[in-house]
Amino acid sequence: MNPDPVWEALLALDRGRVWHPYGALPAPVPPLPVVSAEGVRLRLADGRELIDGMASWWCAIHGYRHPALDRAVTEQLQSMAHVMFGGLTHEPGIRLAERLTELAPRRLEKVFFADSGSVSVEVAIKMCLQFQRAAGRRDRRRLLTVRGGYHGDTFGAMAVCDPVGGMHSLFTGVLPEHVFAERPPDGFEAPLDEGWAARLSALVAEHAHELAAVIVEPVVQGAGGMRFHSPECVALLRALCDEHGLLLVLDEIATGFGRTGQMFACEHAGVTPDVMCVGKALTGGYMTLAATLCTAEVAETISRGEGGGLMHGPTFMANPLACSVALASLDLLDGLGWRVRVAEIEAGLRTGLEPARALAGVSDVRVLGAIGVVQLEREVDMAAATTIAVEHGVWLRPFRDLVYTMPPYVIDAGDLARVTEAIVDVARMSG
Ligand SMILES: *Cc1c(COP(=O)(O)O)cnc(C)c1O
Repeated sequence: MNPDPVWEALLALDRGRVWHPYGALPAPVPPLPVVSAEGVRLRLADGRELIDGMASWWCAIHGYRHPALDRAVTEQLQSMAHVMFGGLTHEPGIRLAERLTELAPRRLEKVFFADSGSVSVEVAIKMCLQFQRAAGRRDRRRLLTVRGGYHGDTFGAMAVCDPVGGMHSLFTGVLPEHVFAERPPDGFEAPLDEGWAARLSALVAEHAHELAAVIVEPVVQGAGGMRFHSPECVALLRALCDEHGLLLVLDEIATGFGRTGQMFACEHAGVTPDVMCVGKALTGGYMTLAATLCTAEVAETISRGEGGGLMHGPTFMANPLACSVALASLDLLDGLGWRVRVAEIEAGLRTGLEPARALAGVSDVRVLGAIGVVQLEREVDMAAATTIAVEHGVWLRPFRDLVYTMPPYVIDAGDLARVTEAIVDVARMSG
């Protein structure tokens, strides 16, 4: 392939000026230039095509350039791209709030729109603090979470990420210090571990007087380590929150919209949180949008409290383009028969990743819904892994000791098999 002079210049600029996530500038492994994407495929500047095993960080559930999603954006553009949400309102925002509250567990009736997942977590934390204060419990200002979690990169969210994986040591003295319980024991189907339950219960009781809320990712811990735990752990947290007057915040940013086989992962546990965050797949990966849902009790208590309401208001709150494409994405999800689709992907992942189990250097293979994970005994060499996956015509982005996929729901069996073959090959080379 001839090097393209335009792209050579662009990549030189990228190296010189552009930050990429979680890394040095320039990035030690140069990023691959993408010129377009369609269905489940990314097209690179040199003409190669890669099947996207990552769904653009788990968002692009319907794939790229979906005609219905393209149309939703184009149609919304005919009326307005954006308008402020302070003092003004619009149909896409109202309709999306209605839709989300219909989809969500029953008591979640109120919606605050945010412009990213991390901000929706900040809003959730703020809701809990303002709620306790408005309820006259001013000493309840800390949060409890479990180790191994990930809730975003802004400071409030970072403070409840895993203290080691979330690199709290870089920000000692800056982050608020919350209460960390042990990570829930591994295994979606594992019975509730009595020892863990007893230690968690004791920790909550010990700190209840100073706690506003518990915040966790239900059932699947995503970027903190791609681990699955029993829905019974989530149910126990709900019971402990009720017992001690704490709010339960569930971060469904990664797990929401069918990814784990239920519309929201908390449905595995039959649990309704007081506050719930959604984001990522909300717009089908088209645009950044997130939302924090809460119960009427939380909203009413905050609204009666000092300050006269929830003290947050992002500039691009409820952006109409994003709300319109989110509505179209939720329509598609209905039409897709997502339950069956996710179950088919789950079966394909189980079959396709099974050969990795026998490989040297593989410590675990786990699948839940449309999430497939191979965990290695050592850290993955990212550059080597990327090269192997690209040779398979597949885009993967392993991290730490994890090679995984969260593919678009529209991926067909043949493409899914190529993704799992690439993962198994990366695991083989890394062993
Ligand atoms: C990605 C993610 C976030 C942060 O969302 P951003 O849109 O990247 O700010 C928060 N919580 C969970 C569980 C996530 O997976």
